[in-house]
Amino acid sequence: MSDCIFCAIAEKEIPSNIVYEDEEIICFHDLSPQAPVHVLIIPKKHFTSLDDVSECASDKELLGHLLSKVHVIAEMLGLENGYRLVNNCGEDGYQTVPHLHFHLLGKRKLTWPPG
Ligand code: AMP
Ligand code: ZN
Repeated sequence: MSDCIFCAIAEKEIPSNIVYEDEEIICFHDLSPQAPVHVLIIPKKHFTSLDDVSECASDKELLGHLLSKVHVIAEMLGLENGYRLVNNCGEDGYQTVPHLHFHLLGKRKLTWPPG
């Protein structure tokens, strides 16, 4: 069993409510939704945070792939009026799970600035 909860989800060692999956990434519903639609999109490869991403071609390809799928997933979830993609990085960024993930939130009018 992986020590990292999101690696364990990617490896199907613990259950999650999966919305989208391919070889590189997986998207599943957040356990504590902050909007009517709140999913997490993660690379299956473990990065602790955005700080862990390098400039090597494979990291760039993987993160580019993840970002290219955001609108596909948003469309699957019916977010035709827009959405917010959030990454919390590190302690001041309020990151609580140390595996890189992007929150995709929608189906309510989101405010700005965030807290
Ligand atoms: P962050 O604060 O940006 O690190 O966000 C971590 C997110 O992971 C929070 O929104 C949690 O509700 C969510 N979370 C933690 N454990 C799980 C889990 N097992 N399945 C789904 N979402 C989770
Ligand atoms: Zn991990």
